[in-house]
Amino acid sequence: MDELLAFDAQHLWHPYGPSAAAPVPAGAGPRLVTGASGVRLDVVGHGDVIDGMSSWWAAIHGYRHPALDAAATAQLASMSHVMFGGLTHAPAVELGRRLVELTGYDQIFFCDSGSVSVEVAVKICLQRALGVGRGGRTRMLTIRGGYHGDTFTPMSLCDPDGGMHSMWRGVLPEHVFAELPPAWDGNENVPDDDPAVLAWAAGVRALAAAHAHELAGVIVEPVLQGAGGMRMYPPACLRVLRAVADELDVPLVLDEIATGFGRTGTLFGADHAPVRADVVCVGKALTGGYLTLAAVLCTAEVAAAVDASPAGGLAHGPTFMANPLACAVAAANLDLLLAGDWRADVARIETGLRAGLSALTGAPGVADVRVLGAVGVVQLERPVDVPLATDVALDHGVWLRPFRDLIYTMPPYPCTEDEVDTITGAIAAAVRKVAA
Ligand SMILES: *Cc1c(COP(=O)(O)O)cnc(C)c1O
Repeated sequence: MDELLAFDAQHLWHPYGPSAAAPVPAGAGPRLVTGASGVRLDVVGHGDVIDGMSSWWAAIHGYRHPALDAAATAQLASMSHVMFGGLTHAPAVELGRRLVELTGYDQIFFCDSGSVSVEVAVKICLQRALGVGRGGRTRMLTIRGGYHGDTFTPMSLCDPDGGMHSMWRGVLPEHVFAELPPAWDGNENVPDDDPAVLAWAAGVRALAAAHAHELAGVIVEPVLQGAGGMRMYPPACLRVLRAVADELDVPLVLDEIATGFGRTGTLFGADHAPVRADVVCVGKALTGGYLTLAAVLCTAEVAAAVDASPAGGLAHGPTFMANPLACAVAAANLDLLLAGDWRADVARIETGLRAGLSALTGAPGVADVRVLGAVGVVQLERPVDVPLATDVALDHGVWLRPFRDLIYTMPPYPCTEDEVDTITGAIAAAVRKVAA
């Protein structure tokens, strides 16, 4: 065990961290996990703890699910991977069939990760502009506070401040950013003529008009902005963005990588409005957290315009496109989701999160508490001492990974009422400790 951690400390980069050459303060390094089962991780020194993060929101059914293990094992016995150029296979077709039936989109592009799917979605918008004779339109309209991934195109669409655009001036394409939409607590019904929505919409429309000649698309995360700050905004704002995209005659792209597959209480984030996008990115929970896979879903109309561009088709084709192992697990994951009672699961978790976190509203050091579906967020007045908060949560039997000023949870859907109670108890303990 010590030897694993020692090697890791010397040689392995972790997300958004300094290189292993930089000394890590005692207790701030990664924890060793030796296994995972159900909604629990086996963390060395802490035993089985509830995973309050669903492994960055992906493991919606928990770990070692018999149906997903079986799908992976069965696929291993025929082939783990073959190229998708010139070849096809049943796992890709079966997953594609499910996505078409579930979403009604006509064209599907499989790729390796959420970030790559955003790259592809933006490329679709730019190639579509070429295909409809409006080449030279290369900018996207988006909103502040977003997160779309870590490769350069997604980074250019992330919140300009949170995404550190100043560091990348001259490197990142400069897109057009509308103001943050008004906040939403997920509970109330905010009408289209709410004054805050109207004021925000007027700003978006003015910006769209000023840049209409250079815009190729509109892209946002629907209803919940994830890693950009875990903010929720009213579905009415999504309807505004749909209308703006129509007025501009450009595709509306919805990044459903965090919100897809039930997380916010509806199957997709867009269903809160409801609006229908032209292009949709899904990832994260697509394989139930087993393997890395994402997909771009697109209308036949937009796809036809892409085909009419000089490239004659979509100019993208990753090595591991439609990896059979990932597709087989994803198909089983969708079957599991639709056969189960995700709606009741998410509603149960939402009720538990509201009950357990409401007492933190107005507590010392707490700026805001918000819940939407199986997403519970406590925003503090100051940045969180992450190692300290992590320790406290582990002592309470829960794995959490706070960031910036946020201590939050996105539990796996099978979590029982008691397990959600344990999670909110751990969050409350961590908040009390770091805000003290
Ligand atoms: C996680 C995330 C991404 C990036 O996905 P990766 O698989 O990490 O590349 C993009 N958009 C949203 C909304 C996400 O939550």
